Amino acid sequence: MTLIASLLPASQEVYRKIVFEIDDGVIGIDADGIIRLCNPSAERIFGWRSGELLEKPLEVLLPEHLRTRHQALVSNFRVGADDARYMGSRTAEIVGRRADGSDVHLGITILKTSATSEPIMIAVIRDISERISYQRELQRLAQTDPLTGLLNRRAFHDSVAGCLQERQPASSAIVLFDLDDFKGINDRYGHDAGDDVLVRFADILRGCVRGNDLAGRWGGEEFILFLPGVGSDAAVVVTDRIRALLTAADFHWKAGGTPGLTASAGVFAGGITIGSLGTAIARADKVLYEAKRSGRDRFVVAPDTEVADLVR
Ligand code: GH3
Ligand code: MG
Ligand code: MG
Repeated sequence: MTLIASLLPASQEVYRKIVFEIDDGVIGIDADGIIRLCNPSAERIFGWRSGELLEKPLEVLLPEHLRTRHQALVSNFRVGADDARYMGSRTAEIVGRRADGSDVHLGITILKTSATSEPIMIAVIRDISERISYQRELQRLAQTDPLTGLLNRRAFHDSVAGCLQERQPASSAIVLFDLDDFKGINDRYGHDAGDDVLVRFADILRGCVRGNDLAGRWGGEEFILFLPGVGSDAAVVVTDRIRALLTAADFHWKAGGTPGLTASAGVFAGGITIGSLGTAIARADKVLYEAKRSGRDRFVVAPDTEVADLVR
């Protein structure tokens, strides 16, 4: 006798106990998709009162936009070769609908029985909302600069690449900013004052970019913008607005007569592709260095000839 077979003679009471005590939801449906079995955990996961789900169509547990697709999935599973399938891996998130209309992330094992009586299909359901939100939080933390809340260097690069994969405008701009004499702020007013400047500059960037633009912290006091669909003229307008807002900003340590903070910038505009992104950033960096060398508190735009080189 195999191990499985040795388990079979368990009494109905054992199965009843498992179904009614287990922390996972168990839902059984008939051939028409009507709920014929529902344990207390399923009612808890979906926020329904005891007994309310019985005789309801399974669709009440699904968001509207998934209902048609779900029906097809169930039909395919019914006639398919598999007797059991786990759904809800990290790549394919399964979302259910609670009684109050909110979404719940689920891991589901669906089972087909050869029972002649209802229910004929069973779903064992686990609420994985906590795991999903934990994963999302970890992902957010991995992509975000903790001080300013902007994208960090790697996330900025990946986000621009993702953006260019979807759509590649004839011209986009990269703007690199470097705060002038920032070390002096730290030295004169303390590291906290320096941090405050970085946070405020990040706020200025956020306030000056549009929906599809991307802003990141490139390094210590270096910041970067990606402006898709923008030529050099428009990029220069944005760059100068940002520099002017920094210089006008009030800081608690800034007494009357203290000169405003300044930033230098390098602007590159052209037909940026995923393949040329690194070169575009290097060009912006090169002209930023020119802005520094020629006296700071200014921007330099990468020359057209270089833009043309890159586009070819
Ligand atoms: P320049 O005008 O040539 O850009 O001079 P600078 O002083 O801005 O540049 P430098 O590269 O000499 O100094 C940058 C300073 O930024 C040094 C570093 O301690 C400081 N810094 C980097 N990250 C942080 C941070 O997170 N917080 C604070 N407060 N300072 C930082
Ligand atoms: Mg620097
Ligand atoms: Mg600097």
